[in-house]
Formats: sequence, C-alpha cells, structure tokens
Amino acid sequence: MAAIPATPPRRVVICGGGVVGSCTAYFLSTHAAAPTVPTLIEKCAPACGASGKAGGFLALDWCDSTPSLSALARASFALHRRLAASLDGAAAYGYRPVHTLSICVPSDAPRPGSPPHPLLPGWVDPAASAAPPRELGTPETTAQVHPGLFTKAVLAASGAEVVVGEVERVVVRDDCRVAGVAVKGRDGVVDADAVVLALGPWSGRLDVVREVCHVSGIKAHSIVLRPREPEKITPHALFLSYQPAPGAKMLDPEVYPRPTGEVYVCGMSKDEDAPDDPATITGEPDSIAMLHKIAGRVSSHLRTEEGAKVVAEQACYLPCSTDGLPIIGEMPGVKGCYIATGHSCWGILNAPATGAALAELILDGKAKTVDLEAFSPARFLKRRSRR
Ligand SMILES: Cc1cc2nc3c(=O)[nH]c(=O)nc-3n(C[C@H](O)[C@H](O)[C@H](O)COP(=O)(O)OP(=O)(O)OC[C@H]3O[C@@H](n4cnc5c(N)ncnc54)[C@H](O)[C@@H]3O)c2cc1C
Repeated sequence: MAAIPATPPRRVVICGGGVVGSCTAYFLSTHAAAPTVPTLIEKCAPACGASGKAGGFLALDWCDSTPSLSALARASFALHRRLAASLDGAAAYGYRPVHTLSICVPSDAPRPGSPPHPLLPGWVDPAASAAPPRELGTPETTAQVHPGLFTKAVLAASGAEVVVGEVERVVVRDDCRVAGVAVKGRDGVVDADAVVLALGPWSGRLDVVREVCHVSGIKAHSIVLRPREPEKITPHALFLSYQPAPGAKMLDPEVYPRPTGEVYVCGMSKDEDAPDDPATITGEPDSIAMLHKIAGRVSSHLRTEEGAKVVAEQACYLPCSTDGLPIIGEMPGVKGCYIATGHSCWGILNAPATGAALAELILDGKAKTVDLEAFSPARFLKRRSRR
C-alpha cells in the first residue's frame, strides 16, 4: 500500500457537482486509511449539466484503442459493478447489464412488412433496420446507469457538505500552495488544503486552468419518452446511423431504454461553448424534432402520435480537451490544486476510476487504481515548451 503523506489534507473542497466531482467525493470519504469527507461547491444543483442529461451507457472495452483510456475505462466498468452492488439497492439508480446493437435506419419511409431479424428486440420495428443489425456488446461487456440518479447517489453516500455557490477563483499562497477558493457573493476564502476542479466544460473559465490548458464544449441534445407500454421495452441499447436525406450529413443517434420505463434518445451535436449559467441551457427545436423523428422511425412505441409521452427535451455540453484525453491530476505550479475534466462522451463510464485515482493521489500521494501519468495537466506545458 502506498504511504500516506506526512500531512494528508484535512480540508478538501471539490468544485462542481457533476459525476466526476461526486465520484471524487465518494472515494475520498470511503478511503480505507484516511477517509476524508469533503465540501462540494456547485453553482446550480448536483447533476444539473451533462451528468444529469447523459445516456448513462457503460462499455468495458470500447476505449481499448487508447491504452491509457482503456485502463481507466476497464477499472471504471468494474467499479460501476461494485458500486451498484453496494449502493444501487437503496438508491435505485438503475444499473443493469444491456445488449447493444448497431442499426442502420433507412432514409426513406419504412416499408411495412419487413421480416423481423432475430437480433432485433420486439419493440423495434423490423423496417427500422435497412441492413442486418450488428451486435456491439453483450450483457457481459455493456451496461447502463441512470446518470443523474447515479451522480446524486454517490454524492449522498459520500456525506459531503454541498454548498450552492459559484467558484470564481482558486486562491494560492505565496509559497504556491493552494489556500482555498473564492466564491461569488461570499466574503473571504473557503479554506482548503486541497482543491479539486471538476467543472466539466466550465473548467477553463478559471485562470489557474486557462493558463495551462484549453477545455471546450460540444453541445448535444436528448429527449426522454415514456412509451405507451413500457413493459414491452427490453434492455437493448441501440447505436443508430441515419442519413435524413441523400447527401445529408450522417447522424449517429443513440437509444437507451431505462429500467424506469423511460426511453432516452440522444444525438445532434455541434461544437459550441457552454453558456455561463448551466440553468439557461435549452435544446434547439430542429434538433429535438429530428430526435423525435428518428425515435418514431425506430419504434412505434416511441411515437407521440401513438401514445408515447414526452418527459424531457434538453441539451447539455460534453467537456473536451484538445487531445481527446481526460485531464486528471495536480495542476502544475499550484501544490494541492487538482483537476478532473475533459471526459468527453465517456464521463459517466470513467468517473468512478477517475474519482478513486484522484482520491488516492490526494490522500496517499500516488494513484494506484489507474496510472494517471497520461492524463496529467502538465502534458500541455511540456508540449508547449517543446515547440
Ligand atoms: C447527450 C450526452 C450523452 C452522453 N452519454 C454518455 C454515456 O452514455 N456514457 C458516458 O460515459 N458518458 C456520456 N456522456 C458524457 C458525460 O455526460 C460527461 O462526460 C460527464 O457528465 C461530465 O461530467 P463532469 O462532472 O465532468 O461535468 P458536468 O456534468 O458538466 O458537471 C460540472 C458541474 O460544475 C458546475 N459548475 C460549473 N461552473 C461552476 C462554478 N464556477 N462553480 C461551481 N460549480 C460550477 C456545473 O453546474 C456542473 O454541475 C454524455 C454526454 C452528453 C452531452
């Protein structure tokens, strides 16, 4: 076991109540040798951003083409299973293994009378698949959670004190150690020996981050439907490809039935920075309309004309780094200030191992759940100095 640093931090402040901040809080508070219950400062409400509006799809081996990411994803997939065994019973955040299929949806109106393919579940219209569907994952390799419920469950289990407030600045002492954070409208500094910045696509708004790396956003849309007969919808995640018209851009929406009886459909993304206030984010009508159209093509159960109810029409922002890898580790030049962001489309999957490794780095001085070297924010400065 790694040695505990001579003075492990007593006061840890986490900034951002998304899945990454919440998992970090959980693993700090459950650390075997030095359990530390942090304070978490969230501008809006826990899981108000992408962590509450994501699909919640989990895959064991879909990040395998990048070795560092593969280790993070595989460790996280195993942690999700372990967390579900200890937390999901009481908190009911809908962890379950799923079948996963790839389906090419025809551009033109579906032709009734197509014979059903044996891989297609009964609730998917046989004519929704222009070619034989492909199996992308099995219940051994793919699973799901309800991301918003998962985030709130791990945060609640951490026992963290949650403060609603907007972090404006990281306060640094003369000896380059973190002193705490300044919160808008509050006098003084919220003192801390360690600060974790888990602000998703908003991370780059703080000077301490902007000086080292760029974090951008991708806006993506989603709808949540309650089908007429939810009991007929089986646990099959669907990855679609759909060309709305000849020559038009291919779309790649995703469909996730949830154990709550709802069906989540997402897609329609574009590069765009998040607005300052997460509470003001809304979906664009054209994108929402396209998701309804695609959902209706896939299954009559998902057509509002046939009794499906609309539960949500929404948008949120993926947090992205410039090299596509998450940014996890201590900020160069500010001892005790850590960052965890840039998880792009895999933040729900990768949050547990991120939180576990960061908690080890903060409390033990070294991460052992996964090697964080490839994710260090220092990589951006090294690249800059080589130019
Ligand atoms: C449509 C869509 C579908 C997705 N599907 C999946 C999926 O199926 N599987 C998967 O693994 N991933 C998925 N993702 C990706 C995943 O949602 C994200 O990677 C993840 O939620 C990012 O979590 P986070 O905690 O880093 O950021 P966020 O969830 O954005 O949380 C950041 C938090 O910081 C708060 N904040 C911002 N500024 C401040 C401030 N100054 N002070 C205090 N608080 C502040 C915000 O209010 C917010 O709550 C999806 C994303 C989208 C958009």
